[in-house]
Amino acid sequence: MREIHIIGGGLAGCEAAWQIARAGGRAILYEMRPQRRTPAHKTAALAELVCSNSLKTEQENSAPWLLKEELRRLGSLLMSIAARTRVPAGHALTVDRELFAAEITRAIESERRIEIRREEVTSLDLERAWIIASGPLTSDALAAEIARVTGSERLFFYDSISPIVDAETIDTSIAFRASRYGKSLDGSDDYLNCPLDKPQYDAFVDALLAAQSVPAHIEQDQCQYFEACLPIEELARRGRDTLRFGPMKPMGLIDPHTGRRPYAVVQLRAENARAGSYNLVGFQNHMRFGEQARVLRMIPGLERAEFLRYGQVHRNTYINAPALLTPALQLRTAPNIFFAGQISGVEGYVESIATGLAAGRAAMEDPPRAFPRETAIGSLCAYVSSADARDYQPANITFDLLPKLENPPRDKKQRHAEVCRRAVAALDAFLCAHV
Ligand SMILES: Cc1cc2nc3c(=O)[nH]c(=O)nc-3n(C[C@H](O)[C@H](O)[C@H](O)COP(=O)(O)OP(=O)(O)OC[C@H]3O[C@@H](n4cnc5c(N)ncnc54)[C@H](O)[C@@H]3O)c2cc1C
Repeated sequence: MREIHIIGGGLAGCEAAWQIARAGGRAILYEMRPQRRTPAHKTAALAELVCSNSLKTEQENSAPWLLKEELRRLGSLLMSIAARTRVPAGHALTVDRELFAAEITRAIESERRIEIRREEVTSLDLERAWIIASGPLTSDALAAEIARVTGSERLFFYDSISPIVDAETIDTSIAFRASRYGKSLDGSDDYLNCPLDKPQYDAFVDALLAAQSVPAHIEQDQCQYFEACLPIEELARRGRDTLRFGPMKPMGLIDPHTGRRPYAVVQLRAENARAGSYNLVGFQNHMRFGEQARVLRMIPGLERAEFLRYGQVHRNTYINAPALLTPALQLRTAPNIFFAGQISGVEGYVESIATGLAAGRAAMEDPPRAFPRETAIGSLCAYVSSADARDYQPANITFDLLPKLENPPRDKKQRHAEVCRRAVAALDAFLCAHV
C-alpha cells in the first residue's frame, strides 16, 4: 500500500489525507499543535480556520463558486462538511468554525487509512513520499529544512486578521440588519451594519491614522502586504476616501432609521450558528489592542463592544512555486515531494483545500497527472507552476487565471457562464477518462 507522509493538519493537509485514503493509500498526517502552537491557531482541532469563517461566494458562475463546484464533483471532504456546517451569510458559503473543524477532525480520526501523529516535523527523509502542507505559519525549523531541500530562500510578508465582537454588546438600536442590495441566502438579512455620517467617518479616520501600531517585526521596507488583505490603517494612509470605497463602502445599504444610504458602513458578519459573535468584515489591522478597543468603539453601535479577538498581524510563508513545482504540485528536483495549501503559493481557504485535493490525488498516481487547464483547479495549479518566478505573488482563484474562450460572448455574465460550463464539462470528461 502506498504510504504518504503529510505535514500539517490544516485545510490542505486534511483534504490531501482524505483523498489518499479514498484512493486506497495510507496517509500519515503530522500536526504539531497542541504541543507547538502558531501565532494564529487557537485550538488543537484539525482544519481550524484562522481568520474569517467565510469560504467566499456561492453565486453561480463566479470564479470562487466554480472552484467549490469542482471540489464537490471531485468528492472533497471539506466541501461536504462546509455544506453541513453552513451558517446564513448572504451569498457567501460561511461556516460555524467550531463545528467545521470538529467534524473534519472526527472524520479524519475515524478513517482507518489515516494515522495522525501530533508532532512537529523538522527534517525530511527524502526516501519517503511527502506532501508539505504546513501553511503560512510553518514552523521555523521546517521552513529552514524546506529552504535547504528546495535550494531557495524563504519568502515572508505580512498578513492580518480581523477583530471579533460579542453580539450582546452591539447596540442594535443603531446597527441595522441588511444584506447589500437585499441579497441574502435565505431571505433574512444576514449582516449587522454600523452606519457612519461624514463627521463620524472623518473622526474615525483621524483616530485610525493617529493610533499606535504594534511594533513591526521586520523593517517596514521589507514588508509587503497581500493586496486583498490590507490592514485598515494602511488603507486609511492611502487616502481619506479609500476606506469608504473599500471595506466601509455603503453601496446597496439603506439605514432604516434615516431612510438614506449612510456615508460609510462597517459590516458585521455572524461568526457562528447562534450569531453569538460577529466579525468586523475587512477590518484586519495591527493597532495595539488597547488602541483597537478605543478606536473601534468610535463606530456607531460599537460604543460598548466587547472584543473576543483583536485584529493581528502574522507572518506568511510560501515557496517560489513557479521555479520549483510541476502542474501536479510535485517538486521538480525531488519528485517524492509535493506541496499543497498556502505554502504552495496559493492564497485563501478554498484555494488551499483545492491544492490539498490535487496533491493528494497526484501523490497516488504514477505518473502524477495535472487537472485540465480549462478547470479552475487546473488553472490554479498552472498558475502556481508557471507564473513569473521573478516577482511571484500568491493567487486567489479569478477568471483571468483560466484560458480565454475562442469566441467569447460580449456580455460578461454570459462569458463567465460559458467559462464555467466549459470547466465543468472538461472536469467531467477528465473524471470519465480516468475511472
Ligand atoms: C493570520 C491569517 C489570516 C488569514 N485569513 C484568511 C481568511 O480570512 N480567508 C482566507 O481565505 N484565507 C485566509 N488566510 C490564508 C489561508 O487561506 C489560511 O492560512 C489557510 O488556513 C491555509 O491553509 P493551509 O492548509 O495551507 O494551512 P493551515 O490551515 O495553517 O494548516 C497548516 C498546519 O500545519 C501545522 N504545521 C506547521 N508547521 C508544522 C510542522 N513543522 N510540523 C507539523 N505541523 C506543522 C500548523 O499547526 C497548521 O495546523 C489567512 C492566513 C493567515 C496567516
